[in-house]
Amino acid sequence: EKRNPAQTEFYQAVREVACSVAPVYLDRKDWVQDQLLERLTEPDRVVSFRVPWETDDGLIRANRAWRVQFNHAIGPYKGGLRFSDTVTESVLKFLGFEQTFKNALTGLPMGGAKGGSNFNPKDKSEREIMRFCQSLMNELHRHIGEDIDVPAGDIGVGSREISYLFGQYVKINNRWAGVLTGKGTCFGGSAIRTEATGWGVVYFLRAMLQRIGEDIEGRTFCISGAGNVATHAAEKVLDLNGKVLSLSDSTGTLYFKDGLRQDDIDAIRTLKSEKGSLGDYDGKGTFRKGKTPWSIKCNVALPCATQNELGEDDAETLIENGVTAIVEGANMPLTAKALEQVRKAKILYAPGKASNAGGVAVSGLEQTQNAMRMSWSSEEVDRRLVSIMEEMHGRCLEHGMKDDHVDYVDGANIAAFLKVAAALKSYGVW
Ligand code: NDP
Repeated sequence: EKRNPAQTEFYQAVREVACSVAPVYLDRKDWVQDQLLERLTEPDRVVSFRVPWETDDGLIRANRAWRVQFNHAIGPYKGGLRFSDTVTESVLKFLGFEQTFKNALTGLPMGGAKGGSNFNPKDKSEREIMRFCQSLMNELHRHIGEDIDVPAGDIGVGSREISYLFGQYVKINNRWAGVLTGKGTCFGGSAIRTEATGWGVVYFLRAMLQRIGEDIEGRTFCISGAGNVATHAAEKVLDLNGKVLSLSDSTGTLYFKDGLRQDDIDAIRTLKSEKGSLGDYDGKGTFRKGKTPWSIKCNVALPCATQNELGEDDAETLIENGVTAIVEGANMPLTAKALEQVRKAKILYAPGKASNAGGVAVSGLEQTQNAMRMSWSSEEVDRRLVSIMEEMHGRCLEHGMKDDHVDYVDGANIAAFLKVAAALKSYGVW
């Protein structure tokens, strides 16, 4: 920890992977001698830069942005961009580290990266966001390329921001190339990329339930977040006849005693896109200000908001209330203590690096479609998404099977680590 002072999120992520892979790693004397694990915890490079931009009032402001290119042993760097005032180098390093293993797990040739800025889009106008994105790309374009690094969206970066970023890339370089994913379908984006992370979470859960002879139909769900991942996960649960009891945002939880409906999801998406809070929702549901959803009794919990949003007490309450499964839509939403409890309780639990990989998987398919200069139908991409999620589930089983349960954390970490470490080993001094 002396090497990277105060990078708590990064250490949390590294510790989890190191603990999982230790038994396999320590068994391979040649890998230990080559310090493969240690080398994998050091990003290839971290680019940090200033992003100057102009407010609507003509004031000049500057934010800090980063691109953490973590590892490209198995494919070009790939990972989202996050705009939030909570973004720090530690957060992006944790996300880039996780992304390296998540991408390996998908089976597609993608390395790991993450980037973003401490720019807070919530209190900015559309024109300010556009100018910020264009200015950010003025620097970022030097570091990306379809065979180098292909960023995508994340918190605070949706299709609008990707469009501004991509437009600026094309303008600066005078060339159209698939250097970003999550593009609009009218300019090279893949069908169902927007839906893919949330839908993928539910496909992964379905595979977990099917293994024990159960199904989504009739089960109750608590979902946190009200953004891209949360609303699309909710939509897919409804599609498969589950009942969604909550969504949440940074101001509180909206509780739907009788279950939310598709028209609630549509209205909440509009409300959030207009920068509203869930407390302003005038449809059905009871708003619980400042509360998380985890005290609501449910069969399945899908944390889909942000890192460390579900703590020890929340985990305890969920377990006491008889939750069957916790499946992560967000990246590292459980604190280390919460994770420890959940694993000890041996309930079904899927880490984000497996369960939320559907988004990056469809981003990988977007790269393929761009390279082939063609686009697949929604049905075709959805079919591939389902099979990628099921294959990932299979990889987790292969390495996570214990005597009396499946440890999906070990399964995902070991399967992904074996792949990336083998590539690193093959390259020699690298
Ligand atoms: P969005 O920006 O679309 O939505 C984030 C949501 O989380 C918002 O509703 C936000 O509320 C809420 N939120 C933020 N902080 C908190 C908090 N402390 N407590 C409760 N709610 C909070 O982001 P995404 O849906 O895209 O991403 C959500 C998570 O999923 C992130 O961890 C992201 O890294 C991960 N992920 C996303 C992928 C994607 O394809 N989009 C792919 C893989 C992972 P508010 O509006 O009030 O801030």
